[in-house]
Amino acid sequence: MLDADFFHRWMTAAAALVSREADHLTDLDAAIGDADHGSNMLRGFAAVTAALGKEPPQTPGAVLMLAGRQLISTVGGASGPLYGTLLRRTGKALGDAPAVAPEQLAEALGVGVAAVAQLGGAQAGDKTMLDALLPAAEALGTSFGSAREAAEAGALATVPMQARKGRASYLGERSIGHQDPGATSSALLIAALAETGA
Ligand code: ADP
Ligand code: MG
Ligand code: MG
Repeated sequence: MLDADFFHRWMTAAAALVSREADHLTDLDAAIGDADHGSNMLRGFAAVTAALGKEPPQTPGAVLMLAGRQLISTVGGASGPLYGTLLRRTGKALGDAPAVAPEQLAEALGVGVAAVAQLGGAQAGDKTMLDALLPAAEALGTSFGSAREAAEAGALATVPMQARKGRASYLGERSIGHQDPGATSSALLIAALAETGA
């Protein structure tokens, strides 16, 4: 079973990966966006770890809902509300149980990812974070490791896609040939989950 401490460690691991990869995320966003995805994610996850450290929530759902609120309030741009919605809705779907099974997390993540799709109006193949998140949520039903592989493959698969949502879509065909920054950070979030679960 996965308790509140597990979810706290997941968010801490995500913050560490984001901080390690921030320059890479910004470089990817420089190619097809406005070169702020690394700094957006850094600021957001710094706020997440600070808030969790101040008053650690007692349930998995509360950890994710607090993290989501922090992302919404500190990250400007498209990714803040989208990641915030992902974590808040996943947390809400977990309810107030003190610990959850991995299968429950898989199901809840599916709910959170569907909420991201609804909020952003994007679907698979639009070259967004969903191209990593959708296959990851699906594969999480199998194992943490397969979710990580699915997210990484999903992020890589955005390279040949033409962006249909977000800033990158303004580039039209010129968005082809670059990896989507949000799909890349989503793969980091899932890699952090797999590290925590290992
Ligand atoms: P901004 O584009 O406002 O500067 P970021 O650079 O932080 O915000 O985030 C950009 C990422 O957000 C994109 O790489 C993409 O993955 C994701 N994104 C943008 N619009 C959408 C959308 N409508 N649905 C899903 N994801 C989106
Ligand atoms: Mg940007
Ligand atoms: Mg921006």
